[in-house]
Amino acid sequence: MIYCIGRNYAKHAKELGNTVPQGAPVVFFKPPASIALSGETIKLPAYSKEVHFELELAFRFNENLEAGEIAVANDLTARDKQREAQEKKTPWSLAKGFKKSCGLGNWVSAKNIDLQNLELKLTLNDQLKQHGFTKDMLFSIPVIIEYLKETFPVEPGDIVLTGTPEGVGPVVAGDVIDAEIIGLSKAQWKFI
Ligand code: MG
Repeated sequence: MIYCIGRNYAKHAKELGNTVPQGAPVVFFKPPASIALSGETIKLPAYSKEVHFELELAFRFNENLEAGEIAVANDLTARDKQREAQEKKTPWSLAKGFKKSCGLGNWVSAKNIDLQNLELKLTLNDQLKQHGFTKDMLFSIPVIIEYLKETFPVEPGDIVLTGTPEGVGPVVAGDVIDAEIIGLSKAQWKFI
């Protein structure tokens, strides 16, 4: 399963005109087969005119259901379909779960890494678009883990995307995105 946390950075919630979640995090899912590894070419879904990149820290549960490994992630989002779903109060599946909608870089061990002190960067055609810090998360990794474990059937190997900082924007055919957790995980995707 791929669990995703929405609106986990205040400035990003604000840039989309959303309120900050109170009490519990916003959780949605992506299909496990939606992963696009670094180096893959991603075909943008024909049904959307506005796909956005969302730079995120991802972690993967180990056997003890702890954050065992981390990787840079791109929560690709058909923003027009998400807006439509929000207006109609329908699920976000078309917006968030399309083929190759879950970009992932290389996994590295989370051992001895302070997950709340990481720096994230994303460039679009070599132009810096997102630059965030995991210390700005509204729900920290331990809080997310506790919430997911008490609510959902979390298993070893499940992946969690922890939300995006501000600066999200559109990606179109011909673009190249590079994403990085500084010093730890990198990825690049081409879009057609
Ligand atoms: Mg996201």
